[in-house]
Amino acid sequence: MYVPLLDLKAQYRTIKEEIIRATLEVYEEQRFILGPKVEALEAAMATYCQSEWAVGVSSGTDALLIALMAAGIGPGDEVITTPYTFFATVGSIVRLGAVPVFSDIDPNTYNLAPETLEDRVTSKTKAILPVHLYGQCCDMAPVLELAGARGLFVIEDAAQAIGAEYRGKRAGSMGDFGCFSFFPSKNLGGCGDGGVVTTNRKAFNEQLRILRVHGSHPKYYHEVVGGNFRLDALQAAVVLVKLRFLEHWTQARQNNARMYRMLFEAAGLDGLVTLPAETLGRHVYNQFVIKVPDRRDALKAYLQEQGIGTEIYYPVPMHLQPCFKDLNGKKGDFPEAEDAASRTLALPVYPELTDDQQAYVVEKIRAFYST
Ligand SMILES: *Cc1c(COP(=O)(O)O)cnc(C)c1O
Repeated sequence: MYVPLLDLKAQYRTIKEEIIRATLEVYEEQRFILGPKVEALEAAMATYCQSEWAVGVSSGTDALLIALMAAGIGPGDEVITTPYTFFATVGSIVRLGAVPVFSDIDPNTYNLAPETLEDRVTSKTKAILPVHLYGQCCDMAPVLELAGARGLFVIEDAAQAIGAEYRGKRAGSMGDFGCFSFFPSKNLGGCGDGGVVTTNRKAFNEQLRILRVHGSHPKYYHEVVGGNFRLDALQAAVVLVKLRFLEHWTQARQNNARMYRMLFEAAGLDGLVTLPAETLGRHVYNQFVIKVPDRRDALKAYLQEQGIGTEIYYPVPMHLQPCFKDLNGKKGDFPEAEDAASRTLALPVYPELTDDQQAYVVEKIRAFYST
């Protein structure tokens, strides 16, 4: 049996005609940058994410970058974030000359642990950048409370969490900005790069739109320096079609997560393998990540031999990345992030995965640990 980590072709087969039709419309219109398709997607995304506004941008990375710029983050400013995330979270902070200040994660949710956040605040702190990792929201109440008390911006990295909820609120609707990605492997992916920034504040909505076109407002007059952060119409057309199926796909991911829980329990593995905690509201399972006691890399190699695709998100925490050595991070600084980096493994959980494929994955994990 063959079980890839993600099977985008299986999804494409179910919506092929609609994707092609929507794309052809763009060719007929010959308006490729921003325009009506992008505006339609922005309206639909704002509604779906329960935010007042959504601004289409060129990628999830650029969503983070432009949100930080709109918050006025610059050289010397400190931004508190997690060391256990995709590189873009931290790269965006550093590209603006700001300083990422790491705080360790909760070992159950892999998101920022609220307890240690307050200790990280200094007179230079400007923002907190929580990541809703794997599809589950960070514990936002303490983040928002601290930010409110200390006058900090909150920028949510919701690239993996579209549709996730925390106390009934959707990811990206709680902070000053929500940053989303349409990278093809996300729960809502385009046919290339793209993203969106959500906000509930009118002034930020306007500032994001100005920054997206080099800070031009009106055209060819620049009070600020922005960049080319524009979303293209082809991506918007594709994502608009796929947005209609997102709830259905999310439910399929959740069903797959439930199936894994049953299978791991039935295999007697639930004591050995740590399954994802689902404690803080609606989890949308961009990834189904298990934590194993030992031999993680050997398990990954073994599963690969059995035709099962898995991935390590992420093998090196940010404070140990060579490019951030100036921050003086060292082993032992963030033990939970380091532990997660050495023991977690993402299993296939994409919507089209079958029960038989899941049973095969769990059976092979059982086989590995019984030798
Ligand atoms: C994917 C991702 C991003 C970046 O999105 P791109 O569209 O690939 O630029 C940022 N943060 C997290 C947590 C992500 O998973």
